[in-house]
Amino acid sequence: MSNKLISYDNAMEIIKGEIKRLSPRTEEIDLLNSLNYILAEDVIADIDMPPFDNSAMDGYAIKFSDKKNWEIIGEISAGNYSSLTLSEGDAVLITTGSKIPPEADTVIPIEDVETSGNALVLKPNAHFKKGMNIRTKGNDLEKGKITVSSFTKIGPNVIAALASCGKIKVKVYNKLKIAVLSTGDELIPVNQIPHDDKIRASNNYSLSAAITGINHLPVNLGFAKDDKEIIRRKIKDALEMDIDMLITTGGVSVGKYDYLLELFDEAGIEKKFWRVNIKPGKPIYFGVYKKDKKKILVFGLPGNPVSSLVNFYIFIKPAVDYLYHQNEINFHTAILQHDLKKTDTKRHFSRGIIFYEEDEWRVKAEFSQSSGNLIEMSRANCLIEIEENKINPLKGEKVKCIMI
Ligand code: AMP
Ligand code: MG
Repeated sequence: MSNKLISYDNAMEIIKGEIKRLSPRTEEIDLLNSLNYILAEDVIADIDMPPFDNSAMDGYAIKFSDKKNWEIIGEISAGNYSSLTLSEGDAVLITTGSKIPPEADTVIPIEDVETSGNALVLKPNAHFKKGMNIRTKGNDLEKGKITVSSFTKIGPNVIAALASCGKIKVKVYNKLKIAVLSTGDELIPVNQIPHDDKIRASNNYSLSAAITGINHLPVNLGFAKDDKEIIRRKIKDALEMDIDMLITTGGVSVGKYDYLLELFDEAGIEKKFWRVNIKPGKPIYFGVYKKDKKKILVFGLPGNPVSSLVNFYIFIKPAVDYLYHQNEINFHTAILQHDLKKTDTKRHFSRGIIFYEEDEWRVKAEFSQSSGNLIEMSRANCLIEIEENKINPLKGEKVKCIMI
């Protein structure tokens, strides 16, 4: 692959083509620990749901006729069924979720009746229909049907469905292990005060958090000096680890001490592309390392903290979503609140603040948009995506905002 500058769409196609071959492993975990995992099996209903005809209301179960008054012959509460035989004119006090006696076919809500001893009367303005307020057996889902299908992301609602199928263990896709290594002579640990020309190595933190944020496992490899021997060693060690991806930051530009491309090559990583026609984050490198039957995807991101995080949101997150068949909508179309300057033909991902006001999504982007301005990025909640051929979008235009 040449060093040709490629488009964002093209880069994304290349990444998707590679990531789909990763075939993540699966594991069985406790249902209670499965939140946010991706289900790796179709879960079949082992019972009808609900398992029996039951009442949807607190009320009186009756056998439908044109009668408007009944005699209360007993009661059934949820979980305490007692077999009562009803004839026309009989009523059974019943609570929500209780099993309906076989002869009953209608439940009249408690609010619609009046009682006096065992006598029950419909209130003057109340109405009822045959079959009312009964949840029939299997109406939610029939036994043997798929309750939750493979590749569903497990949220509390899904856990409810799985629990009612008796699944205390579920088969899920393993989380990807994604290692993060920063490079740069200027870097110092974040718990130290930088002197002279040093800066705190914030990228390990931001990228590890971004990985956790998409429900995968960061492996923090810290940072390394711009020293070929040190970085060579770090890359080698990383590739020997049981990881699915390696993300590095720094050293992929054209500076004198930008060694990463050369070292990736030396380590046997196959380059798929270097440099994409975007702003920020243009110097991104992507390669694949083949090891036995496994592959490790390697992303060499620029060191700039804004660029590396933007790269994560626009390349790595969508790629992981694609691998796990997730297509949650993560963007809004919003009205630009002021003109934006864009005079080149790169695809821009500008930092913005999206908000909802007067029945519309609106977005402000009154930031410097300099990729060095990390603190400004910390105030943004979206990336405004502006396509290559769009020049200077104006106030009032609709723009795509990717939520971050
Ligand atoms: P580079 O891509 O190595 O040319 O770095 C670009 C810019 O990002 C420089 O201003 C670096 O000081 C800064 N930078 C590099 N690595 C990090 C890091 N891990 N954390 C914060 N800033 C960084
Ligand atoms: Mg550097």
